[in-house]
Amino acid sequence: MNPEELAAVVQFHGHFCPGLAIGVRAAELARREIGPHAADEEVVAIVETDMCGVDAIQFMTGCTFGKGNLIHLDYGKNAFTFIRRSDGKALRLVMQPQFWGESSEEHRELTERIRSGEASPEDQARFQELFRQRGQAILDLPLEQLFEVQTVEPRIPAKARVRESIPCEACGEMVMETRIRLMGGRKLCIPCFEAGERRL
Ligand SMILES: [Zn+2]
Ligand SMILES: [Zn+2]
Repeated sequence: MNPEELAAVVQFHGHFCPGLAIGVRAAELARREIGPHAADEEVVAIVETDMCGVDAIQFMTGCTFGKGNLIHLDYGKNAFTFIRRSDGKALRLVMQPQFWGESSEEHRELTERIRSGEASPEDQARFQELFRQRGQAILDLPLEQLFEVQTVEPRIPAKARVRESIPCEACGEMVMETRIRLMGGRKLCIPCFEAGERRL
């Protein structure tokens, strides 16, 4: 992958880490097999984790939270599905666990010293170096080894629709109508509804 793009991803995320590297690789595979960076909603990503790598996926594929073509399922799995709307091609990429990098004895000892606050500056530097190496190893692997690639049925979510907003009858703030909750006939926003429930 080109170093300038990688630098831009790292800047967007804030640091380089193994999790980000996984997202970079998933995005590379998606762009190769599903299509280029999505300017609109032509590609949809479904991510089954909220880890660091999702930032790389948003930045590199254009499947973003704000556009509504990034969907998070809170399953805690390193699995990423990409769906091309034009023809329904859909791939689910499942990261192969052996490449996450098992902790070495050295890594475990360093982690222990850092947790207990006894780590020296050299320990810290070494820990950072091992962390960076794990990320780099993920960047260097062939994509086909890193992920199991499954062809799946596209479950294409409806396109994001603009909804009416109406005022909450308790706080007065405008709320998308699909998020209104009813309590005793009053139309409330979710926080006001939950505050009301706690008083019951
Ligand atoms: Zn990170
Ligand atoms: Zn309210």
